[in-house]
Amino acid sequence: MTTFAGKLLRIDLGSFTSTIEQIPELYFSDFISARGLAAKYLFDELKPNIDPLGPGNKLILSVGVLAGTGLQGFSKWAVSTKSPLTGTIFRSVVGGNFGAWMKHAGYDLIIIQGSAKNLVTVHVDTSGVYFSDAKEFSGIDPRGLQKLLKKKYGRRTESACIGIAGENLIRYASITSGERTASRGGVGTVMGAKNLKAISINVPVKKPVPFDNPRFQDLVKKQISMLKDHPRKKNMTTLGTPYITTVLDKMGILPVKNFQEGSIPGIDKVSGKKFYDLKMAKAGCYLCMTRCGGMRNVTEGPFGGTQIDGPEYESIYAFGPLLDITDSAFVTDANAFCDYYGLDTISTGVSIAFAFELFEKGIISAVDTNGLDLTWGNKKAIFSLIEMIGKKEGIGALLGQGVKRAARDLGGEAGIYAMEIKGLELAGYDPRGVKGYALSMATSNIGGSHMYGRPREELSGIKDPFTETDKGLPIAQVQKEQALDDSLIACTFGNSGLSFEMYAEYLAAATGNKEFENVNNFIKIGERIVCIERCFNVREGFARKDDSLPKRMTTEPLRKAGPSTGQMIRNLDKLLDEYYEALGYGKNGIPKPGKLRELGLDGTIKNLS
Ligand code: SF4
Repeated sequence: MTTFAGKLLRIDLGSFTSTIEQIPELYFSDFISARGLAAKYLFDELKPNIDPLGPGNKLILSVGVLAGTGLQGFSKWAVSTKSPLTGTIFRSVVGGNFGAWMKHAGYDLIIIQGSAKNLVTVHVDTSGVYFSDAKEFSGIDPRGLQKLLKKKYGRRTESACIGIAGENLIRYASITSGERTASRGGVGTVMGAKNLKAISINVPVKKPVPFDNPRFQDLVKKQISMLKDHPRKKNMTTLGTPYITTVLDKMGILPVKNFQEGSIPGIDKVSGKKFYDLKMAKAGCYLCMTRCGGMRNVTEGPFGGTQIDGPEYESIYAFGPLLDITDSAFVTDANAFCDYYGLDTISTGVSIAFAFELFEKGIISAVDTNGLDLTWGNKKAIFSLIEMIGKKEGIGALLGQGVKRAARDLGGEAGIYAMEIKGLELAGYDPRGVKGYALSMATSNIGGSHMYGRPREELSGIKDPFTETDKGLPIAQVQKEQALDDSLIACTFGNSGLSFEMYAEYLAAATGNKEFENVNNFIKIGERIVCIERCFNVREGFARKDDSLPKRMTTEPLRKAGPSTGQMIRNLDKLLDEYYEALGYGKNGIPKPGKLRELGLDGTIKNLS
C-alpha cells in the first residue's frame, strides 16, 4: 500500500480520447509528486519552442502524495504548463477540493493535451471520461459554471473552470475551483487555448491507504495536536494573509504607485485587522484546520450582494496600495470582479498600475485610454479597465497581454514602468528592501513570483535584508525547500511548525520508500526539481541574461519607504554569481554537466547542448 495513486489520466482534446497510464516508480523517488512530477513530464513531453497557446502545449493538473490522507494542509493541487506569459515552465498552486477529488478518482496527474475545435467540457466519474459540447457555457463566469455543473453531474461534483478572460486568451487568465484560483502565469489561458471550459469530477470518497498505517495515523494525530496551539496557525486562522499588509508597510516594502514608493498613509484601512472585522465566515481548503480564508461581502459588480473568499494579501496589494488606494470595500469588489472574468488579480493590478504610471508620465493620454482618466486612485477607471481587460476591448486588449508585451508594443520608455520578471508581473514585495527576494525573484524559473523561494530569515528580521552578500546559498536553499513544499503539496500557510524532518517521516510512513527517510536525500529532490525546471528553460533559450530585475530596481532608490528608503539593488551580478555557484551552475546560469550527473539528470545534457 502507498498513498501514491500511481496513475495518470491522459486526456486528448484533439481526438476526444483518454487513457490511463502507470507512472514509473522511479519518478516518485526522484520527483515525489505534484510540481516535481509535472516538471518531469513537461520536460520529457514538450517539444522545445512550441507555442504555449498551440495544441502542442500540455496542461498538467497534479495533486500531492499526502493529499486526502488526514494530514492537515496537504490537499491542495497544482497546474503546470509552458506559460503564455513567460515562455518558461510554470506551476500555479491552488486550494479548494478539486485535488482531493483527483486523488479519490485514483490519479496523481491529469495531463490535458491537444486542442478541441470548439468549446468543450470534460467530466470524469467512475465509469469513464466524457466530452461534451460547451457552447451553452460560453461567456459564463467560473462561479456560475460550477453551479451548473453540479446541477448537471450531481451535488458532489468538483470542477476547475475558466471565465471569459480564458476564453478571450487574456495572457493571465486563471482557473477557478470552488472559491480558489490557480491564478498565475496564464494557466487559464492555456486551458482557453485548448477550448476547454471546464473539467469536472464526481467520484465517491476513496481515502489513500498509507504503507504503514498505524505509524501514519499516529503522525496525523501528533500534527493535529501540535497545530491546535501553534501561534502561527492561530494568526493565520484569525487574520489570514491580510495580516502581511501592515508588516510590509512597516518594513517599507509594500509597493505603492507601481513600485514608486514603499509605504502608504492610511494603511490601517486595508490591514489584517480591518479585513478581520469584515469577515462574515471562515473559509478554507479540504482537510485543513488552519482555514486561513474568510468570506466577505461584495457590494459592486456582477457578484454584488454575494460573498467571496478573499481578498488575500496579494489582491489587497494589487488593488490597494499599488494603485494608491486604501479602501477595503473597493479591494474586495475589484477582487470579485477579477474572479468574475477569471483574471489573475496580481497581473491585472500590475497591468493597471503600469497604465496609470504611463498616464502620469504623459506616455499615454485619454486618447489611448478610451477617455478614462488614469489619475492615481481613480476607482471607477480601475473597474472599467478590469472589464476592458476581461472582454479584450480597447486598451484592455493591450494590457491583457501582460506588461512586458504591452511595453514592447508601446515602445519608447514604456518598458521602464513594466514591473515584471521574465514576463510575470511582480508580486507584492518590493525587492529593493529585501535583497534575498530580489535574487530569488530574478532567478525564479517562473518569473517574478513571491512563491518560488521566500527569504524567511530576511523577512522576519533574523538576517539583514539590505546587504548584498551571502545571499546565494540561503536563496538556493529556500528555492529547493519551496520545490519540496510544492511537490508534496504542503501549504505554505497551513504548515505551521512542520520541519523537513517531519515531511520525510510522513513520506516514509505513507509510501514505505526508505529513500525519503534521509533528509539530505529529500532536500536533493528539491534541488533536482529546481534544476529540471531550469533545464526546461535553458532549452527554450533562457540563460543569465533573463535572470534580471525591472530597471527601476537597479536604478531608482526606494522612496517613502521608512527603513527601506534609499534602498536599491546595486550589484545583481554579484548576487547571481553567488547563487549559480551555490547550485553548481556555470556563470551563464546553465547547470554544469557534473551537477546534472549528480542529480541523475544526465539525459538532459544531450538535450541542452
Ligand atoms: S492554510 Fe489556507 S490556503 Fe493553506 S490549505 Fe489551509 S485554507 Fe488552504
